[in-house]
Amino acid sequence: MQDNTMLWENTLQEIASQTSRANFNTWFKNTIIIKHDQGTIVVGVPNEFVKEWLLTKYHKAIVKALRDRDESVRAVEYVITKPEQAAQQQKQIQQQKEEKPNEQPLLELSVSKEDNLNPKYTFDTFVIGPFNELAYSASQAIINRPTVYNPLFIYGGTGLGKTHLIQAVGNTYKQKHPGVKVFYVTSEQFSMDYVNAVQTNKVNPFKEKYRKYDLLIMDDIQFLSGKEKTQEELFHVFNTLYDNNKQILFSSDKHPHFIQGLEDRLRSRFSAGMVVDISQPDYESRFAILKTKAERQHLNIHPKSLEYIATHVQGNVRELEGALNTVMCQIQLKQKQLSQQEIQSLIKSTGKSKKNISIKDIIKIIAEFYNLEEETLYEKTRRKEVVRSRQVAMYILREDFSISYPLIGRKMGGKDHTTVMHSCLKVKEELKNDPEIHNEIEKIRSLLSI
Ligand code: ADP
Ligand code: MG
Repeated sequence: MQDNTMLWENTLQEIASQTSRANFNTWFKNTIIIKHDQGTIVVGVPNEFVKEWLLTKYHKAIVKALRDRDESVRAVEYVITKPEQAAQQQKQIQQQKEEKPNEQPLLELSVSKEDNLNPKYTFDTFVIGPFNELAYSASQAIINRPTVYNPLFIYGGTGLGKTHLIQAVGNTYKQKHPGVKVFYVTSEQFSMDYVNAVQTNKVNPFKEKYRKYDLLIMDDIQFLSGKEKTQEELFHVFNTLYDNNKQILFSSDKHPHFIQGLEDRLRSRFSAGMVVDISQPDYESRFAILKTKAERQHLNIHPKSLEYIATHVQGNVRELEGALNTVMCQIQLKQKQLSQQEIQSLIKSTGKSKKNISIKDIIKIIAEFYNLEEETLYEKTRRKEVVRSRQVAMYILREDFSISYPLIGRKMGGKDHTTVMHSCLKVKEELKNDPEIHNEIEKIRSLLSI
């Protein structure tokens, strides 16, 4: 095995020959191999942003270049390391070979099969302010048991943190009460699960499965609208859990009274416990969210700039994240702080909200992200990278812009709506186990400022 420093230097030479100078300096400066253990290389990077970028854009090239130089390399992981620490850390790590990197390996951050929860959603990273504190304290009450609010129904517009909050409840509940059975499911997954069970004659296992949980979390309940059979099934699941004092937690984009196409008996069950909303974050909360996120990513950004973003991006939390990512990206590229004016013009240009963006523009941005021509996405080709980009585009059009399946099909070069549905499902499935696609989609979302 060659020395880590040599190995990385040779690898970087190879990558530099494939990359523009500016890009290379931006993404590879201050990177270092901090560990090489049984085929796994751990690369230290200066911050979260570089980590994401390497994962989404350069991972394959890095793995290949490393492998070309050392056949024993099987996997590459990235952890955040401060530059001045990097050298020191390398020494330490040589001394204590057993020491783990200061971040969890990526694989551990994937969705658990057993409870379908994503461990990245925790209260550690969740900012509480007047806009969400009721929902937060009701959630805490659930965690501390016994079932005081049952069901707890949390509603609010998109990007306001419902999924984050209810998944954090699941993760914390699991930790606090070892041995309990928790399950997170979106109403769409529940519905598909049911339809599959019917088609494969497995309704009984389905019924048993959903009746065994101590805490059942169902996200985006508004998608049950008009699905009568699924609603009926949920009604029975609900009653069994409720009668057995099991906790149920729902989220929706609307108050139960305003969800259309919902059976009255379900509507009244949903409203029978505690109904709380999350509203748009106020200025102080917006500032706190930005500050927390900047700090977590080790981003050195002037408080005045954060104030500016908090004042001018008044939408939901996802939009705030998008604005911050844009600024972060520029700071990385320029390797220096931005002037107030630069921040202003950046924020203005990201201020184009998704309401004004056309389907064609969205597809174009996604194609660009994957280094493809927009036209390529419309072609009938089975080239792997094209298929993947096309599927991601369909998924985003559906999930983030609520475009109907048939219209997506038409816009994507005349595809049948079942093809679109299939693609969206495929991405959803992959998202559960593949951190890479997850990162890609988050990146695209921030490019689209959603
Ligand atoms: P929703 O499910 O309501 O559409 P999400 O839970 O997906 O919203 O939140 C959108 C993004 O904003 C996620 O990246 C999430 O982690 C982040 N987020 C939302 N609320 C908060 C909060 N209070 N503090 C920190 N991050 C938040
Ligand atoms: Mg959500």
